[in-house]
Amino acid sequence: MYGIDVMTEHQVTRLDLDGNRLEVIDLKRSKSSHLSFDKLIIGTGARSRRIELPGSNGKNVFTLKNVQDGYDLKAFIDEKKPRRAVILGAGYISLEMCEAFVGRGLETWILYRRSLPAGNLDSEISERILKEVQDKGVRFVSNCNVASFSTNESGEVMAVESDRGLYRTDLVLMAMGVIPNTELARQAGVSLGKTGAIQVDSGQRTNVRHVFSAGDCCESLHLVSGQPVHAPLGDIANKQGRVAGENAAGGDATFHGIVGSLAFSVFDLEVASTGLSSRAAKAAGFDVESQVIEHDSKVGYMPGAKPITVKMVFDRKSGRLLGGQMVGEEGVARRINALAVALHQRMTVDEIARLDFAYAPPFSPTFDPILIAAEQASKKIG
Ligand SMILES: Cc1cc2nc3c(=O)[nH]c(=O)nc-3n(C[C@H](O)[C@H](O)[C@H](O)COP(=O)(O)OP(=O)(O)OC[C@H]3O[C@@H](n4cnc5c(N)ncnc54)[C@H](O)[C@@H]3O)c2cc1C
Repeated sequence: MYGIDVMTEHQVTRLDLDGNRLEVIDLKRSKSSHLSFDKLIIGTGARSRRIELPGSNGKNVFTLKNVQDGYDLKAFIDEKKPRRAVILGAGYISLEMCEAFVGRGLETWILYRRSLPAGNLDSEISERILKEVQDKGVRFVSNCNVASFSTNESGEVMAVESDRGLYRTDLVLMAMGVIPNTELARQAGVSLGKTGAIQVDSGQRTNVRHVFSAGDCCESLHLVSGQPVHAPLGDIANKQGRVAGENAAGGDATFHGIVGSLAFSVFDLEVASTGLSSRAAKAAGFDVESQVIEHDSKVGYMPGAKPITVKMVFDRKSGRLLGGQMVGEEGVARRINALAVALHQRMTVDEIARLDFAYAPPFSPTFDPILIAAEQASKKIG
C-alpha cells in the first residue's frame, strides 16, 4: 500500500555498518545475499525466555511469542487432547493463558519462583489475582524453581521436577518474560544499555550515526524514575517505530518516554497499572508512601457495581504521584488512564483529589475511586 518492499521468510544474519549492507538468507530457497542501505532501523523485537534443560525442546513444550506459536499450541491441544498443563512463570501472558487452558478443560498449574503472581505489581493487587485464579481452579505453586524435566522415549515432558515437588503434565508453557534480540546489533558495534536492550536517544538514534532502533529490542526512558527501562509493549513499539521511521527519513521526531501503563484481564478480573510499584519506586530512590482503598466502580445501587481496589504510590514529602495500580471486576482498565495522565503531568495526590471527573450513577460513584484514593493519600503527605 505504501510502496514498501516486504521480504518475509528472510533472516538477517549480519550487519555491516561500515559498508552499509546486510547479509540476508532467503529461508525458503536457503540462498544468501546482500542488501545495501543508507539508513537502518533495527526492530528485531524480543524472544521468549526459556529454561534450557534436557527435555526443554520437547514437542509438548511451548512458548507464546507470535501468532504461529498460538496456532501450534492450539493444534497440539486439538490433536493430543492433553488433560494437564503446567505454566512456568506468572506474568500477564501466563495469567491470560491459564484462563484459556481452564476454558479448554485442562487441569492447570502455575509454577512460579516468587510468592505471588504478577510479581511486578504490589502484593495488595497480586493477592487478589491469586485468589481469582485459585477460585477458578488453577493450582498456583509459589517459590518454585524448576530443577529438571522428566521425558518419555519421544522426548515429551511427562513431569516437571522442582524444589517444591514433582508435577506431572501433558504440556508445558514457558511464560517467563522476554529477552531483547540484540545479538546482531551488538556484534555490529551498536551499544546496549544496562537493561541489555539497545540504547537509544529520544529520536530513537543508536550510538551509530545512521542506525535507529524501535520496539522490544530497545530501551525506553521511564518518565517517573528518569531511568532507561526495557518495556516490551506493543503501543510503545508502535510509537517508537514511527519516530525512528520519521527520523531515518530525515525528520526530527521525538519519543518523549513512557510511564509504563498496562492492563490485562484474568478470568473475571481486570488488572491495570501505571508508573512505579512501591518496590520499583523504592529501588529508584524515592521516599515512598502509599494508600490502598476499596470502593465501588459505580453507585452501589446500580446493576453491575463491583468493588475496585486502588493503590496509589507517592512521594512522602512532595505528594507527587509515582504510580497507581487497580484490580476489580469492572471499570479498571480504562480508569487507569487518568492516573497515566497525572504521571505525565507530575501531579501530586492533592491535585488529583481536586480533579473534576464526570459523575453519573451508571459510570461512577459520586466520588470516583481514584479521587477517594487521592484524598486519603493526601492526608499522609509530610
Ligand atoms: C501473548 C502476547 C500478548 C501481548 N499482549 C500485549 C498487550 O496486550 N499490550 C501490549 O502493549 N503489548 C502486548 N504484547 C507485546 C507486544 O506484542 C510487543 O511489544 C510487540 O509485538 C513488539 O513489537 P516489535 O516490532 O518490537 O517486535 P516483534 O513483534 O517481536 O517483531 C520483531 C520481528 O523481527 C523479526 N526478526 C528478529 N530477528 C530477525 C532477523 N535477524 N532477521 C529478520 N527478522 C528478524 C522477528 O521474527 C519478528 O517478526 C504481547 C505479547 C505477547 C507475546
